[in-house]
Amino acid sequence: MSRAYNFCAGPATLPESVLQQAREEMLDWRGTGMSVMEMSHRSDEFVEIAENAEQDLRELAGISDDYAVLFMQGGASSQFSAIPLNLLGDKSSADYVNTGIWSKKAIAEAKRFGDVQVVASAEASGFASIPDVADWQTNPDAAYLHYTPNETIGGLEFDFIPETGSVPLVADMSSTMLSRPMDFSRFGLIYAGAQKNIGPSGLVVVIVRKDLLGKARKEAPTMLNYQVIADNGSMYNTPATYSWYLAGLVFKWLKAQGGVEAMGRINERKARKLYDFIDTSDFYANPIEPRFRSWMNVPFTLADDALNGDFLKGADARGLLNLKGHRSVGGMRASIYNAMPEAGVDALIHYMAEFAKERG
Ligand SMILES: *Cc1c(COP(=O)(O)O)cnc(C)c1O
Repeated sequence: MSRAYNFCAGPATLPESVLQQAREEMLDWRGTGMSVMEMSHRSDEFVEIAENAEQDLRELAGISDDYAVLFMQGGASSQFSAIPLNLLGDKSSADYVNTGIWSKKAIAEAKRFGDVQVVASAEASGFASIPDVADWQTNPDAAYLHYTPNETIGGLEFDFIPETGSVPLVADMSSTMLSRPMDFSRFGLIYAGAQKNIGPSGLVVVIVRKDLLGKARKEAPTMLNYQVIADNGSMYNTPATYSWYLAGLVFKWLKAQGGVEAMGRINERKARKLYDFIDTSDFYANPIEPRFRSWMNVPFTLADDALNGDFLKGADARGLLNLKGHRSVGGMRASIYNAMPEAGVDALIHYMAEFAKERG
């Protein structure tokens, strides 16, 4: 069996060695006679797996004891409602930055629970640039400021962390978590759906400053109440045990690669190669202002949309899969998360050059 290069935005490719280890441990996890999938979440074995995963994540990201790490369910989208339900407290409104489709979804959901101020929007630039911070209309009394450091669909990524003073900063890091070093002490809360850079879908990692716990609205569902989840070690109900275990294997793999510093260097190089190729070609184009181009998701268009189908067919035949762009933007998108080897990016560039030469 040969593995393809899977450029899917999510669920995304996982490190091959992680999948191999999971296969080896599938039927009998370390002499227990059972799969992790079959273990009680209350068993000593699973509790150890869970605690190791949390510890490795804390080490990788440099998360201090001032923060609770929660392994929740319902994907990143469930957090779009959990955040206002937990963090609005007695404040009347929250600030949101709109940089694309995932921001908009977070904004739409938050509006169900409170007053939302969109303090900056990338719309005027066609979502090709981050609005200048000097123009953000922030509210010093906001419950929090929410933004999306990397827009997975548009391929627009912040190259800085916004300064919000005493207003807690909340970030949807679904597609950028652990892809580069980041000062997590700047955030009140971050969350990341696992299926991009962490593991299987369904799981969502939430890292929340402990002083922000305990402010949930009375009507907040128990399963979305951070205090309850934290008090119960993310085991208020049966957690997504197998996904949690796999995330733990990914964290171990990341540490073996040299952690997020090493990953960041590799990711920057992978992304630069691909953007450099796109920029030197007159057949391919990427619309994002260079400074804000995503290291993780690289959308690109062909000079002639009528060739999209042939491009994708040829890519499939070479084992370069899932390059079709999101239905809302069209064109192509190559997601090159941590687990995408540099050789995959090289193979993609090689194919793109060949296609442009033959059909451009
Ligand atoms: C994928 C993604 C989501 C949605 O994640 P789900 O786990 O499907 O809910 C939200 N935000 C961003 C930035 C994403 O990339």
